[in-house]
Amino acid sequence: MAIAKSTTRNFKNLIGGKWVSAHSRKTFENRNPAKNRDLVGIFPSSDTRDVSDAVAAAKEAFKTWRLVPAPKRAEILFRAGGILTERKEQYARDMTREMGKVLEETRGDVQEAIDTAFYMAGEGRRMFGNTTPSELQNKFAMSVRMPVGVCGMITPWNFPMAIPSWKLLPAIVCGNTCVIKPAQATPLSTYNLVQALLDAGLPAGVVNIVSGSGSQVGMPIVEHPDVTAISLTGSSEVGRAVGMAAAAGFKPCSLELGGKNAMIVMDDANLDLAVEGALWGAFGTTGQRCTATSRILIHKKIARRFTEQLVERARKLRIGNGLEKGVQVGPQVSQQQVETSAMYVKVAIDEGAKLLTGGKRLQGKAYADGYFFAPTIFGGVKPSMRIAREEVFGPVLSLLEFDNFEHALAIANDVDYGLSAAIYTRDVNQAYRAMRDIDTGIVYINAPTIGAEVHLPFGGVKQTGNGHREGGSGALDFYTTWKSVYVDYSDRLQRAQIDTGE
Ligand code: NAP
Ligand code: MG
Repeated sequence: MAIAKSTTRNFKNLIGGKWVSAHSRKTFENRNPAKNRDLVGIFPSSDTRDVSDAVAAAKEAFKTWRLVPAPKRAEILFRAGGILTERKEQYARDMTREMGKVLEETRGDVQEAIDTAFYMAGEGRRMFGNTTPSELQNKFAMSVRMPVGVCGMITPWNFPMAIPSWKLLPAIVCGNTCVIKPAQATPLSTYNLVQALLDAGLPAGVVNIVSGSGSQVGMPIVEHPDVTAISLTGSSEVGRAVGMAAAAGFKPCSLELGGKNAMIVMDDANLDLAVEGALWGAFGTTGQRCTATSRILIHKKIARRFTEQLVERARKLRIGNGLEKGVQVGPQVSQQQVETSAMYVKVAIDEGAKLLTGGKRLQGKAYADGYFFAPTIFGGVKPSMRIAREEVFGPVLSLLEFDNFEHALAIANDVDYGLSAAIYTRDVNQAYRAMRDIDTGIVYINAPTIGAEVHLPFGGVKQTGNGHREGGSGALDFYTTWKSVYVDYSDRLQRAQIDTGE
């Protein structure tokens, strides 16, 4: 088709600073989920051989990159932040085209990469270790951060630039080299981010991109003996497989996985504000955020009013192509995601939940060539239902009622995930108890479950991850390893724990 051909680009893998085809010569297509006939790009379908080439390039580059002073490495990040700022609109448009979320949100996604670039560039002149007194005379002790080596990274499609930036930028400033596999649904935004780094002067081989599937590229990266650390953002199912494979090689492995995030609305809440937050939390990014508000727990005293208002507002949301003005909710990313939403609608109805709005794929000419699913709300949901426990990753929201604060907390915590939570209340005592007692990595007071900032730790508990954090100083902890250094300037043998006493 004419539109498709004129704007289609052929992408290659980036290995050792060169753009190369996959050994297999096979490719896959990246299409626009709002307008399927729009082909965004053609990308290589790589395999183990391409991974080996990329890891070899990263290993070679590590020899010199680790010796570049961190403030010099940081200068490249500063420049990349500036380049991304200049290209923000173009990269946001590319992202909406490949992924579907509305332009306002893809601008935010690029901004997150910009923020991360500047924040991590600042770390180039910090990256503090410790000095501490030695127990022996004329001896000096310190701990210093060292890079870990070649880092393997596997990313999902829902934050196609922000998530790669959370991994690549701290890794680079700490002196590591990287092999990244972007999600097949959204590789272009990773290419755009890396292009900004190359244009900022990043040396060859420091970042390598191998595109392709999870099984053909992702797992070979995890299993490659020269890859020394692994970072994955994705589903808990893939996280378990990746974590086990990494454990077999004794590799540090950071897993950022799913969520089933609750918003608690107390009877003293500002209801208009809570409705506003619920709409944004549940239907922003078409519900395809790991932090999406997928359960709203409502105090029974205000349940009717809140529900009526929310359903009315959800019905009015404008669904469509995220590049068009006025559209508030874009398509889902793929046929598979739409099918998952439809499957959960059926499961919820079978289990006795009440469909209040939505519940189906959108029909009609405007929606025919994309993956549009109506914003969906279920009432009368019980904590034991699958719709209240499993991650849907689509615009499907469950409403549950509670009697009192303790009851709300118990429901909020009774799931296998622990990423984000929110509470709307004006009672400071309840707010503080929620901050302490909700079992998640992130808690919002009077704000929805989404909206993380890059300089705070990001991640969760239970099946949401394995204890690491992205963002903030947690990223430095993952991408460096501690080395303890003792300098003895006494000119004699001094034995710790033995020569310390009189
Ligand atoms: P996914 O299916 O788990 O895929 C994530 C990445 O892993 C993709 O690049 C995928 O490749 C790759 N992959 C798949 N199977 C693999 C395997 N056996 N070995 C190695 N890699 C493999 O998740 P998704 O559908 O892209 O993203 C949605 C999920 O990510 C949700 O569960 C969401 O909650 C989670 N998420 C979590 C966070 C967080 O920080 N906590 C943030 C965003 C998203 P291909 O798909 O290209 O084949
Ligand atoms: Mg796509």
